[in-house]
Amino acid sequence: MSARGAEVDVEVLAAELVGGSRRALARAITLVESTRAAHREQAAALLARLAGAPAATLRIGISGAPGVGKSTFIEALGHHIVESGRRLAVLAVDPSSSLSGGSILGDKTRMPELARDVRVFVRPSPTGGTLGGVARRTRETIALCEAAGFDTVIVETVGVGQSETAVAGMTDLFVLLLAPGGGDDLQGIKRGVMELVDLALVTKADGDLAASAGRAAADCANALRLLRRRSARWTPVAATCSAIEGRGIVEAWTTMLDYQRVMAESGELTARREAQARAWLWSEVSEQLLERFKADPRVRAELPRLEQRVRDGDIPAAAGAERLVAQFLDTVQACAGREGKR
Ligand code: GDP
Repeated sequence: MSARGAEVDVEVLAAELVGGSRRALARAITLVESTRAAHREQAAALLARLAGAPAATLRIGISGAPGVGKSTFIEALGHHIVESGRRLAVLAVDPSSSLSGGSILGDKTRMPELARDVRVFVRPSPTGGTLGGVARRTRETIALCEAAGFDTVIVETVGVGQSETAVAGMTDLFVLLLAPGGGDDLQGIKRGVMELVDLALVTKADGDLAASAGRAAADCANALRLLRRRSARWTPVAATCSAIEGRGIVEAWTTMLDYQRVMAESGELTARREAQARAWLWSEVSEQLLERFKADPRVRAELPRLEQRVRDGDIPAAAGAERLVAQFLDTVQACAGREGKR
């Protein structure tokens, strides 16, 4: 994206993107990833223009610890997906990039074959910003990819706790990849994460690891049975796969399509997307309010002194917050008054 963001013609970009231009899609994603105010406005206009994208898409969240085999699995799965006539976008949400500015998932060469395939669009995680910010940009990127005709979107994340919740909150189906270890491994995964799982796959079920992978899948199936179910119609499935030997990959894809059918027929898929859209609305409201709050000159002037007083125990945090919010609302009202007189 050029620094002269104001020159982006949103109408032209939208038309090119819907027409299938990968360059337009890449430019549009760069626009939604930008934190500059002018770009954010253009991104909002673009997304509004593209709203109402086709609903018959499948959004798959895939998570797992570093080294569990995510990229190898996605390469193998992606191959089946595109061979079945679909178009696939692979996006990454990488919380490590928020912390370090570097990224575990960022490198495109992790999926060399998919990255070369014209039916596939691979986009590494935006670097920098909070996990919330990265999640927001990924949601918007999903919308852009779907508008560009990608009917299957994989959102990959490194399993570290919070990022699974973020990804499960923006996809139809949440897949957790597990290493072929014993029950001890399973216990390392937080209960809250296990409760999100629609499909658990134990990777590397080949050679010496085949037997322990089978045991891990059985343990996982037991654990899933004991947990609160996320869906009324779908019972989470645990299975094994080997991306290197190509076993269990077609079966995993078939399970994902079964899931989509069951959930679509019962109306749960639509309900889940509606709930996600509502949650997205509220997170946008809080983010936008907070942005304006922090940008308010009176709040900015007052903040350092108030922070200090709260740190010193001079006034309670709640009282400090109340004072700042009251000041912010005064500014808002004064602005509204000026607008009204015009
Ligand atoms: P990621 O960090 O989760 O994306 O993991 P990778 O896909 O990069 O894989 C990590 C390591 O596990 C690599 O050395 C892979 O070759 C290996 N690996 C991945 N899938 C399999 C598999 O199905 N079987 C075996 N034996 N090794 C695998």
